[in-house]
Amino acid sequence: MVGKLRPVGSRVPLPEFQEAFSLPWDDSYRTQFMGSGTEALSAAIGMAIGRKPQVSTPEVIIPAYGCPDLVSAIIAQGARPVLVDLEPDLPFMSETGLREAVTLSTVAVVGVGFLGIPERLELLSGICQEHSLVLIEDSAQCFPPESSRIPLADFVVLSFGRGKPINLMGGGALLFNNEMVTACADFLQTYSVRSLRINFVWFAKRAIFNALMSRIAYYSLERLPFLGIGETRFHPLESISRLEMPASLFQAGVCSFWSRPSIQPHYHARLGKLELAGWTLLGKNAEGVSNSNGEHRLLRYPVLAPDRETRDRALSALNSAGVGASAFYGAELSDIDGLEVFLDKRDFPYAKEFSSRLLTLPAHEDVRISDINLVAKVLFGLRDN
Ligand SMILES: *Cc1c(COP(=O)(O)O)cnc(C)c1O
Repeated sequence: MVGKLRPVGSRVPLPEFQEAFSLPWDDSYRTQFMGSGTEALSAAIGMAIGRKPQVSTPEVIIPAYGCPDLVSAIIAQGARPVLVDLEPDLPFMSETGLREAVTLSTVAVVGVGFLGIPERLELLSGICQEHSLVLIEDSAQCFPPESSRIPLADFVVLSFGRGKPINLMGGGALLFNNEMVTACADFLQTYSVRSLRINFVWFAKRAIFNALMSRIAYYSLERLPFLGIGETRFHPLESISRLEMPASLFQAGVCSFWSRPSIQPHYHARLGKLELAGWTLLGKNAEGVSNSNGEHRLLRYPVLAPDRETRDRALSALNSAGVGASAFYGAELSDIDGLEVFLDKRDFPYAKEFSSRLLTLPAHEDVRISDINLVAKVLFGLRDN
């Protein structure tokens, strides 16, 4: 059969008001919808800069392996991104690296949840308190955010773009602490308001977006190189706006997220024995490593191959078998085209190692048990070739 299982992405829901709707962060945070996740992050950084007016070149700390949008959000506010290496074989910022990166010019630390695995906010929040830094939880890839469990972050960022836990074809949200309501309202006033209208064009766009998620459509689209599907690119952030989000659409997005089945236990079970051959199942291990209890819903199923060569062979074997496996960002931030001018040229050995061994497997609502069996067959078969 011709067709390919897309790497990531859930269907856009139909707007629908929910009865008795509430959000897990309602007690601690207010929600301001923004034009995108990047815009929400940039606004949070703008407010962090505002808290330390004496600093002439504000610095913002981010992980060395991550989304190029982090850099766009920081430079749009005139601040300087400072990278911190990862812990070995983990998607978390190194604790010693973070402590060494803090200077008198640091204004904020961005803790980024990786594909559904939240950062260690207790640790980050302790360091931020010691140095009076703002802690921003970038939860673009994690829903619900870790701060809805314990409200440790000053700001939380959500994204509703393609390939995020809740896909509303764009938009984002900035959650801010209840104590900051007045200060945030004043700051956010400076950004214009855009309305998301649910009209004929919206319904047509939704129909196309959802149709393109089928195996046949994804297979065909990937063959059109000018679309650049799956490439990691740096886009400067041009403007920031607040978004008027219809409540019926946001509510439908949250409810469709909760109603999706979780496929990850099947991956844990079928791929478990790979760990004997030097692989690491990041999603499985993270359930023990981060402080929270219970399952985090993974956006993609991340694994580390024993080495780059095996990862690359796995990537091509899975993709030939019709599974949209991916190397994700493909490189550490300082190796992504267009970013080098903004970043210190330094070595981040663990981020580099992580980016060379990472492989992500689809974990969205269309993944079937038979797909996971196929993934297992391909990965266990690699050793014999
Ligand atoms: C996607 C993403 C963003 C940016 O969100 P957009 O809505 O696409 O602007 C920021 N941070 C992380 C970690 C992301 O994955």
